[in-house]
Amino acid sequence: MPLHPINGQTRIVGIFGDPIAHTRSPAMQNAAFRVCNLPYVYVPFLVRPTELARAVQSIRTLNLVGVNVTVPHKERIVRHLDTLSTEAELCGAVNTVVNHDGKLFGDNTDGRGFLASLQKQGFSLRRRKVILIGAGGSARAVLVSLIRTGCKQVMIVNRTWANAQSLVQTYRSVGKTRLEALTLDALREPELLKNAALVINSTSVGLHGEEFPSLTYQATLQTCVFYDLLYRPDLTPFLKLAKQIRRPVYDGRGMLLHQGALAFTLWTNTPAPLATMSRALSQALRRAV
Ligand code: NDP
Repeated sequence: MPLHPINGQTRIVGIFGDPIAHTRSPAMQNAAFRVCNLPYVYVPFLVRPTELARAVQSIRTLNLVGVNVTVPHKERIVRHLDTLSTEAELCGAVNTVVNHDGKLFGDNTDGRGFLASLQKQGFSLRRRKVILIGAGGSARAVLVSLIRTGCKQVMIVNRTWANAQSLVQTYRSVGKTRLEALTLDALREPELLKNAALVINSTSVGLHGEEFPSLTYQATLQTCVFYDLLYRPDLTPFLKLAKQIRRPVYDGRGMLLHQGALAFTLWTNTPAPLATMSRALSQALRRAV
């Protein structure tokens, strides 16, 4: 399908990050604009940390529709925006900005994207127990969505216990979900894993094929879902071992797709063409190998 002609009606959406050369979002979003016949174009912007304030001001100056925000700006951009969604406020981080006539609204679609990717598979987390491995920025976004969807219990397991405990303290009063902080040794305990509905890897371990910390996979229910926020051309180490004992496995492509689909709708007020976006994302990821 041809690109919409660039002319005086063209509307610009972007992504701010540093580095930015690796981003697959332009492929996914431009395919969506094309199939919906919208006169929009999505472009990557390399924004150095010292230039963030000026880059945010340029959203207003250049009348951009909005931007996505990625590493290392997700937290730092918050103070430059006019209003925030509940998720963005709870996460203290923004991945999508919408420009409403010069007033900049910040949202965070990462956690909702994560949930949507599971709901698409017919999986509900209400009153379920979840093991969340990792306590960084992505864990924060996922945790907020787990609490908001009504999980019964989330055990946060992290290399540095203090970081997991800091999440417990920040979020224990947000909903009714019971939160507990543990170190990685706990993953060897059958008792921890035996009634979990979902085990999530939100650490960067496995991105380059590194071995995943010891985890007693066999103790999990047959129906227990393993979800890795990472994605690689092959299965990540965390998922490979789960698949060997026939547990359902998902990698981070679903989250990436759905966070992008939610952003697309925020900018265009149009339902996202998920099949097109998913195809474009897969092609972009294949090209990157
Ligand atoms: P952060 O740097 O904020 O957090 C990293 C986490 O990994 C921390 O919990 C850290 O533990 C843990 N960790 C790092 N190295 C090790 C190690 N060697 N052993 C054990 N634990 C380790 O990163 P993010 O949360 O932002 O991102 C994590 C991953 O998630 C990224 O690789 C990213 O690609 C992916 N991601 C995917 C998304 C998607 O759409 N699919 C969206 C966002 C992120 P500690 O606290 O001890 O340092």
